[in-house]
Amino acid sequence: MNNCPFCRIVGGEINATVLFEDDLVLAFLDIAPVNPGHTLLIPKEHHTSVTTVPADCLSRMISLAPKLAQHISRVVDGDGFNLHLANGACAGQTVPHCHLHIVPRLPTDGFNWGWRSLDELPAAERQSLADTIRKRLQESQV
Ligand code: 5GP
Ligand code: ZN
Repeated sequence: MNNCPFCRIVGGEINATVLFEDDLVLAFLDIAPVNPGHTLLIPKEHHTSVTTVPADCLSRMISLAPKLAQHISRVVDGDGFNLHLANGACAGQTVPHCHLHIVPRLPTDGFNWGWRSLDELPAAERQSLADTIRKRLQESQV
């Protein structure tokens, strides 16, 4: 994917401030950070969606992320962190190469994810939704 900015970072065609890399993953500072230390952790191989990242790479990302986050937070005197992955344009994904945001947080940073809280679904609808999802999960043998 030579037009993918993150593949170009992996290939050394675009500069990035790299914090960590191994054979499977690369971690570098976000160019427009929410807070200092905001880091992107990516598979080196191009995958637009997290759903196609091979299990060994995904497991590396998931096991590494809290460790990176803890160290980054301490360095920037943070008081916690958010891990965030936007999958798909409607979820806010703007770069089509899977990436996990590691965002160190400060009590005074004033950042707000803007969650909304809908009313809980009525019991029958909730049950029906859960039944459908459980059926799909069983069928796909996750
Ligand atoms: P998304 O909105 O897809 O979840 O996040 C994409 C992130 O990639 C954004 O936070 C944006 O600042 C960051 N980003 C986009 N292009 C580059 C780049 O060329 N270099 C770096 N370091 N970060 C980038
Ligand atoms: Zn890519």
